[in-house]
Amino acid sequence: MPAANANLSALLAAVKRHWGFSALRPLQERAVRAALAGRDSLVVLPTGGGKSLCYQAPAVVRGGLTVVVSPLIALMKDQVDGLTRIGVPAARLDSTLSTSEYNATAAAIRSGETRLVFTSPERLVNTGVSGLLRAAGAHTFAVDEAHCVSHWGHDFRPEYRQLARLRDSFPEAAVHAYTATATERVRDDICEQLGLRDPEVMVGNFDRPNLTFRVLPRLDLRTQVREVLDRHKGSAGIVYCLRRKDVDEMTAFLKQAKYRVVPYHAGMTNDERRAAQEAFASEEADIVVATVAFGMGIDRSNVRFVVHAAMPKTIEHYQQETGRAGRDGLPSDCVLLYSGGDFFTLKSIIEKSAQEARATQEYVAASVRQLDEMARYCRGATCRHKALVNYFGQDYEAPNCAACDLCLGDTQEVPDANVIAQKILSCVARVNQTFGAGHVIDVLRGADTATIRQRKHNELSTYGLLKEVPKTDLRDWIYQLLGQGALAQSEDEFPVLKLNKASWAVMKGEQPVRLIRLARREARATASELLEGADAELFEVLRQLRRQEAQRAKVQPYQVFTDATLAEMARTRPTNEDGLSRISGVGEYRLRSFGKVFLSAIVAHCRQKGLTTDVAPPKSAPLALPAPAAPKNSPKKEAMFALFRRGKSVESVAASVELAPATVVEYLAEFVRAEKPDSIFAWVPEDVCERVAAAADIHGTARLKPVFTELNGEVSYDHIRIVFAFMAAR
Ligand code: ADP
Ligand code: ZN
Repeated sequence: MPAANANLSALLAAVKRHWGFSALRPLQERAVRAALAGRDSLVVLPTGGGKSLCYQAPAVVRGGLTVVVSPLIALMKDQVDGLTRIGVPAARLDSTLSTSEYNATAAAIRSGETRLVFTSPERLVNTGVSGLLRAAGAHTFAVDEAHCVSHWGHDFRPEYRQLARLRDSFPEAAVHAYTATATERVRDDICEQLGLRDPEVMVGNFDRPNLTFRVLPRLDLRTQVREVLDRHKGSAGIVYCLRRKDVDEMTAFLKQAKYRVVPYHAGMTNDERRAAQEAFASEEADIVVATVAFGMGIDRSNVRFVVHAAMPKTIEHYQQETGRAGRDGLPSDCVLLYSGGDFFTLKSIIEKSAQEARATQEYVAASVRQLDEMARYCRGATCRHKALVNYFGQDYEAPNCAACDLCLGDTQEVPDANVIAQKILSCVARVNQTFGAGHVIDVLRGADTATIRQRKHNELSTYGLLKEVPKTDLRDWIYQLLGQGALAQSEDEFPVLKLNKASWAVMKGEQPVRLIRLARREARATASELLEGADAELFEVLRQLRRQEAQRAKVQPYQVFTDATLAEMARTRPTNEDGLSRISGVGEYRLRSFGKVFLSAIVAHCRQKGLTTDVAPPKSAPLALPAPAAPKNSPKKEAMFALFRRGKSVESVAASVELAPATVVEYLAEFVRAEKPDSIFAWVPEDVCERVAAAADIHGTARLKPVFTELNGEVSYDHIRIVFAFMAAR
């Protein structure tokens, strides 16, 4: 398709020019191809995955008018301001425009100057706006937050339902839907409700490798919250609370302790909420304390931590809320403070609101099931990244994510896990797989309850078998067995514990299980990787400057430069425009608006502190695996290098020197770094090299994993390692 390719290269040039990015992420590329071809599509990407570029970039190169449907006026204004700053003609049609503003916007749209127009669903469907858009030749619709169209989503909005009518008013137009909600049901519902025609459905990788997930038992809420805050001094974060009252109390407490915090909940007036949002976005406030309803209006990419003061209602909510952290791709912390009582508090909230809304019994049962799923996650012994990704129907292969409490070893292994599991499972068998967790726990602990007496369960061999174990631990472990698939549960409102094949294997001692106790506190505080190799003082100087410049230009700080871009400046310390424009996130427009001031700040700081400038971007920083400790120039190594010089494959070298292929790969990487061969295509196919290099452009070469994840696990660590070595050698 030469035409489409030409389009794509024009698009890449525009992305570099306006946004300063030198590559698209893999799914973004597929999404923009669909958009350029005018084919309907559904793009499912987690928050921070880069959805907006998928409709913004094609709109820039395609010409004509793209209409973006978005539920939130606050976000629209931000997006339009941001686009205007980077030289993309964009406008919004919302209820806050005065008549003269509306007329001016409409004129610009009619003249064909505007590329993107943002509007709300109700405006689009119920007012004369659609006539204007039709006359202007709108050919593409991008429906943002598309899950709002579905009852099954977590944020159903009736006005989104009316978008079904779009098809009638614009039969020729392409419709693209974007969401971060990935369940199959919501996905299907979106396609159906929006009447997408043979859509290309693209589901991105749901793992967020830069987020570290932890679940800690809630022992002393305030102290625990402060611990997280203090670990991230001066950085942005969100503290989610269950109720408004909790928000107010937490805000008051933190204010008194001199944190820069604002509250946010549905009980505040529109103006109050806008002010809070504004304070957070402009970096006047570091911390937002909010009810879980908060989130969609926030667009600050450098949120470094999200604390949940209690368990959220569903895993989808949790994913959405933690998704607000680290949208810039930099390491960020998600801490969930959990207590067994959360389940019951939330259950009664659900029941109460269901009663008020006259919701069906089915709805309540479904909500409670989701709640149970969430509780299971909290108490689980499965890697958090894996558990979350699996929930959204994706596999997670890595044995250790190195970014959750369980994989980091914060938690305490229960030493005799297998024996305990066998006792629990036997008890489930003894009560004929007809009781829920509560009763099984009672039997195991030798409780004296009416049911036990009535059923004579005190005569069972498993009665009192785990007398000494606290109730909460037992419940945790049952959840953990469920999470590992060693135990099953019926799908009723009152679920009954069931045995499956794996349960029997565990009881026969054929399959091991893992049981844990949650950590009392974090075993290891995460050091900030953000500033690795960067001058921390310079970073602060640049952050200050960014705040000033943002005020001057009347934009949000992140629209000047992101944290990642500032960190890169503090690392490479460029002194001229050429060096500056090589940094990701510095496009032509930002260079023109902000280049001079940032360059002179860098030069002044480096001169004053005697720092070297124009440092080359990081070469191969330490890779995930240390090189094997072989003596220098051992005969084996010489032999291997000789074979590599002749382009022999890893397998054949491994066979001839009798080493494991994994070890040989390490030597190959060393060979590539030391001897700088002209090409590595003998070991890594050309297209794989290109993909890895493109991903490394985004994530750097400091760590293998982000690149591995970026490429959806389709490229092996070995290949990535070799390409990195090659890049370092250049
Ligand atoms: P979403 O709408 O999916 O939540 P955004 O569109 O806000 O995500 O993008 C998240 C972050 O990723 C932003 O900071 C954006 O600048 C950055 N980003 C998006 N695409 C790219 C890319 N191709 N290269 C580098 N950074 C990107
Ligand atoms: Zn993990």
